Amino acid sequence: MIVQKFGGTSVGSPSNMQHVTSLVNDGNRKIVVLSAMSGTTNALVEISEALKKGKIESAKKKNKVLLDKYVKVAAVLLSKEEFKAKAAAYIAQIFEEINAAIEQGYSIDIEGEILSKGELLSTHLVYFYQLQEGINAALIPALEFMYINEEGDPQIDVIKERLKPFLEQHRDKNILITQGFICRNHKEKVSNLKRGGSDYSASLIGAAANADCIEIWTDIDGMHNNDPRYVENTTPIRQLSFDEAAELAYFGAKILHPFCIFPAQEFNIPVLLKNTMDPAAEGTYISKTIISRGFKAVAAKDNITAIKIKSSRMLMAYGFLKKVFEVFDCYRTPIDMITTSEVAVSLTIDNDSELEGIIKELETFASIEVESEQSIICVVGTLVADKHGMAAQVTEALSSIPLRMISYGGSDYNISVLIRSEYKSEALQLLHQHLFQNS
Ligand code: ADP
Ligand code: ASP
Ligand code: MG
Repeated sequence: MIVQKFGGTSVGSPSNMQHVTSLVNDGNRKIVVLSAMSGTTNALVEISEALKKGKIESAKKKNKVLLDKYVKVAAVLLSKEEFKAKAAAYIAQIFEEINAAIEQGYSIDIEGEILSKGELLSTHLVYFYQLQEGINAALIPALEFMYINEEGDPQIDVIKERLKPFLEQHRDKNILITQGFICRNHKEKVSNLKRGGSDYSASLIGAAANADCIEIWTDIDGMHNNDPRYVENTTPIRQLSFDEAAELAYFGAKILHPFCIFPAQEFNIPVLLKNTMDPAAEGTYISKTIISRGFKAVAAKDNITAIKIKSSRMLMAYGFLKKVFEVFDCYRTPIDMITTSEVAVSLTIDNDSELEGIIKELETFASIEVESEQSIICVVGTLVADKHGMAAQVTEALSSIPLRMISYGGSDYNISVLIRSEYKSEALQLLHQHLFQNS
């Protein structure tokens, strides 16, 4: 059994949905995890935000625009009356549900409902198309087996237990289609795994079904050695270790959801990144094996806030860092980077929703400086501590850019620097030239 996840562009048009169908229909049994068509989740977020602002008419108008799009998609995708009718009824039902949600007014649960519709639509349309083509497919509802707990963390044991009956029920089916991204929370309300979460769904489902491989099919031929949106001439990396891929995903390589490597790594299931538009391209194979050492790739994470915590009685007094960490713990805010000196600690967070409370608390025992609009640039590879000059290569490449923090030695897999976001593009390009193009 394998899991194949197709992203938004891969199912972004009727012809792409047909192409995905021919890719998955190879006679092997698999779970196919689909994202919403590209643009749909953004549109649903806009509807939910309009609702939050009380702009009911605007939310309804946006909903109508989206409905019209789906009516057109179904008309092109399907040709047989029976399946056209099924799709028309399903689309009408979904958009009525969104309208009913809008009528209820904004709440976090309504937001969860609205955002879930994109994956429900894409999976049903592809399923109807596969039935029309006589393919031995089944649709299994993610909302009946994907669960997160109160902290928003997926419950792998629950997922495993609830997925099992569906796998048994559809033993005779080769293709089991399901929704990425969406799940239920501890209150049984519809929720999601955050933006880009379909990758995470795929790896959780792969772990729960004890899959042989988790394949992430997207619009590029694997993990590149730098962000292709900012740097020219990036190249795909053939193999990565779980640790390297996890660092890249966590520190901003958009091709993977920040947490999606962890379930695969925990259950030792290889992850293969493939290009839907160019299936013959090799892609990137991610497993526990470290094939080669040295720098592999660079990624960047934006919207970082740096906090400097100064105290005259600081580091020499043990227990100070504990006090600092307790504040972040109490506000459930993870720290990404940390550097220390005799008189101050600097650290970064990527979620500033609790910043006010955190600062207030820290100010009871230290003076605080906050800088927003920072980016972490993360150079990933398997870095050998006894090899000279690896950190120097990074800092030399970035000699024209003011570095706010440097982090090296936390693991064998990354060197990170914190810079102002305005320098991000330049920093990515400089690192590319110095680390990957000069040699
Ligand atoms: P999907 O909708 O299939 O999940 P995403 O847009 O989420 O696709 O992810 C694929 C995109 O990630 C690529 O088109 C590319 O622009 C971007 N990306 C950013 N960094 C990298 C990288 N290091 N390697 C490959 N793609 C990257
Ligand atoms: N549709 C969701 C999003 O746009 C999930 C995903 O595509 O992975 O964020
Ligand atoms: Mg994605």
